[in-house]
Amino acid sequence: MRKIEHLGIAVKDLEKSNILFKKLLGKENYKEEKVEGEGVNTSFFMIGDTKIELLEASRPDSPISKFLEKKSEGIHHIAFDVEDIYAEMERLKSEGFEILNEIPKEGADNKIVVFLHPRSTNGVLVELCQEKKG
Ligand code: ZN
Repeated sequence: MRKIEHLGIAVKDLEKSNILFKKLLGKENYKEEKVEGEGVNTSFFMIGDTKIELLEASRPDSPISKFLEKKSEGIHHIAFDVEDIYAEMERLKSEGFEILNEIPKEGADNKIVVFLHPRSTNGVLVELCQEKKG
């Protein structure tokens, strides 16, 4: 794992949170993107060489709706940048971590991603992400 690529934050209202994070960070977001497969609308802020990803549910059965129901707004996941997602999945499986999706899926911001089950990572939802090539 090379670095923290981004922190994912679950929010109820992306528009309001964009205004809040603009004030907090002193800069505009650099992109907004809907990820259909995950049922989320995202907004990204660059901060140094890492990012903040705001996540709003785009439909009621979105994992973000469920998160907001059970918990509240706040930190949702930590995403680590990896060079070879398949090699990293094998390594983590051999260490006993539980992978939520065996096949990497399309993430926001030109990435393929997998998630680790929080019950195998001290309650932290961990995302591995690899930049799509080409
Ligand atoms: Zn993420």
